[in-house]
Amino acid sequence: MTATATATATRSRRGARLSLVIPMHNEAEVLPTTLAAVHAALDGLGVEYEIIGVDDGSTDETFAVLSRLAEADPRLRGLRLSRNFGKEAALSAGLDHCDGDMVVPIDADLQDPPSLIADFITLWEAGYDVVYGVRTERRSDTFFKRATAGVFYRVFNGISDVPIPGDTGDFRLMDRAVVEALRALPERNRFMKGLFAWVGFRQVGVPYARPERAAGTTSFNGPRLFRFALDGITAFSTAPLRVWSLVGLAGAAAALGYALFLIVHVLVRGRDIPGYASLMVVLLLFSSFQMIALGVFGEYLGRMYQEIKGRPLYIISDRVGV
Ligand code: UDP
Ligand code: MG
Repeated sequence: MTATATATATRSRRGARLSLVIPMHNEAEVLPTTLAAVHAALDGLGVEYEIIGVDDGSTDETFAVLSRLAEADPRLRGLRLSRNFGKEAALSAGLDHCDGDMVVPIDADLQDPPSLIADFITLWEAGYDVVYGVRTERRSDTFFKRATAGVFYRVFNGISDVPIPGDTGDFRLMDRAVVEALRALPERNRFMKGLFAWVGFRQVGVPYARPERAAGTTSFNGPRLFRFALDGITAFSTAPLRVWSLVGLAGAAAALGYALFLIVHVLVRGRDIPGYASLMVVLLLFSSFQMIALGVFGEYLGRMYQEIKGRPLYIISDRVGV
C-alpha cells in the first residue's frame, strides 16, 4: 500500500451509495459474466449501489445485451454513445450520469477484479478520497505493451507537471468530491490517468494481480496506444515545445565553436578545399531539427484546435433505465 498523504477523516458506508461505471466497446460476449461477478462481489458489502454501462459505439450486440439485462435488474442502467468516442469519453459519460458518493470505473472484461472493491471501500471509510489499483504483475499484457508502458511512464513522469503512479489504470474508487472536480475540468482531451493525478486529494494504492481478459479482444493496439501516449504527454507537459530552444542554443554554440576552429585553421594552415560532406551533414541535420520542431508544434497546435472548437465529449443516442 502506498499513500501520498495520510487520511484523517472517517466515513461510513452505511447509507452511502456506490456507482460503478463500465465503459464497453464490443463486449457482448463477456458482459453477462462481468455483471454477475460484479453483483457477487458487491452484494453483502453493506452498501447500496448502481451500475452504469456505457456502450461506446459497439458494432456487436453489446447494447442489446445491456438493455436486456437492465430490464431485469433495477440497479443497472445503460447509455449508448452515438458512435465510438473512445474509452476516455465513455468514462466521462458515465461520470456525468452517476450519483454515488463513491464512484468506481471498471473495465468490462473482468481485468479489474470486482472483489478488490471491498478493500477500496474500507480505505474510503478510513478517509482516502481516491483508492487506486496498482498492477503488481502485468503477465496478462504482451511484452510489447509492458515495454512501451515502462518507457511511457518514465518519459511522462520525467517531464510532466504532475507525476502519475506507475502501473495504474482507470480502476479506482473516487469520492464524490473528486468526481465533481473531474467533471469541472473543461478540457476535451480527457487523458484520465493524468487528470486523476492532477486533481490531487488524499490518494492511496492497493496492489493486485491483473488477470487476462475473460473473453473478447483488446481494443488497444500499437498505433492507438501511441496516440494515447502522445495525448497524455502533450496534455501534461510543454517540455517538448521548450526543448527546441535548448537544441537551438546547443546548435548555435557548436556552430560558433566550429567557426572559431575554421578561422584558426585558415590562419595557420591556409585555405583548404571546402568540405562538401561536412556541409551536407550540417545542412541535413539542422533542417531535420527544424522539421521535428515544426512537427512538435503541430501536435500542440492540433490539440489547441480541438479544444477551441469546444465540441461535446460524447453524444448519447440511447438510454435504458436512466
Ligand atoms: N473501451 C471503450 N471504448 C473503446 C475502447 C475500449 O469503452 O474505444 C472499453 C473496453 O470495452 C473495456 C475497457 O475500455 O471495458 C478497456 O479496454 P480493453 O480491455 O480493450 O483494453 P486493455 O485492457 O487491453 O488495455
Ligand atoms: Mg482489458
